[in-house]
Amino acid sequence: MTRREQKTPVKKFAVFFRSYGIALGVIIGAMPVVTRAGGLLPGYQAVRDTLTFATSLLSLLAIAFLFGFRRHIGEAVFPVKPGSSISREQQKRRTKFGTATPIVLAIVAISGLVIYLVSLNLSIAEVAGANGARIKKESMEQILSGTSFVAIPFLSFICTGYTMMFFGAATAFVWGGLIEYTQGELGITDAQLMARPYVLMSRHDFKVVDDTSLPDSAPFFYFEWDPQSPQPAAHVTGPLCETHKRALKYEGKRGVSEHAWVCVNPDKKNDRHEFTLSHDSVTMQHMARAKADALLGERLRVV
Ligand SMILES: [Zn+2]
Repeated sequence: MTRREQKTPVKKFAVFFRSYGIALGVIIGAMPVVTRAGGLLPGYQAVRDTLTFATSLLSLLAIAFLFGFRRHIGEAVFPVKPGSSISREQQKRRTKFGTATPIVLAIVAISGLVIYLVSLNLSIAEVAGANGARIKKESMEQILSGTSFVAIPFLSFICTGYTMMFFGAATAFVWGGLIEYTQGELGITDAQLMARPYVLMSRHDFKVVDDTSLPDSAPFFYFEWDPQSPQPAAHVTGPLCETHKRALKYEGKRGVSEHAWVCVNPDKKNDRHEFTLSHDSVTMQHMARAKADALLGERLRVV
């Protein structure tokens, strides 16, 4: 084995630590400073140690869990090599994992901070038994250091706010670090990403001939293809409900050439309606695929 080969795992390890390690370091480093070293974040002395310990433990567990989840994140954010187009499904996942989740985690952290400060404020005022504006700094410090664990008002809100703040911040950091880490693993450069490589595939809606006789809202399919590919293939999705744009689920055979398909609201399972189509899921997929291939062939010949 040559020296260069031996170096590879170490180099990989270094790449990994450049992103993951920085985030982890920031969290572990920042937590005691913010929580223990006094004036930065006021809090009750009686719960301070417990909260610091519990929050660190929870954050570290979340980080470990997220790290096990890293391939899913990478796959969702970088579904294909830059330069080929992505389907609508991939685009949805990319936005969810690449943009929405870090923003949600940051919002959790900020709301945690607000909840913590507001409930701490109310709690001190309640212990002092007075309007917050009349409490002097010395007596506030006395309340924070002298109140026992069981006597703290709004304790559960204080703990929830505190945990949300650090949990949100830690996971947001690591999530961002993992995206960067997988980008490095896949060898995708920032320059490539700045060129906005992930464009949507071309899309064409169609119906399977047999079902055009149905009343107003007949199920439809669509297929997508990558116009940048030298030999584009059709990716078929469907059948979908025309009114709700939701994928239909096959329910089963109802009679001779009568098959039930349902459109279900994923948030409210009772909100559903049924279609009776003349084919089951296997035949339907087969017909849709054949039609999609034919339509795509036609399109490509025209261009
Ligand atoms: Zn529907």
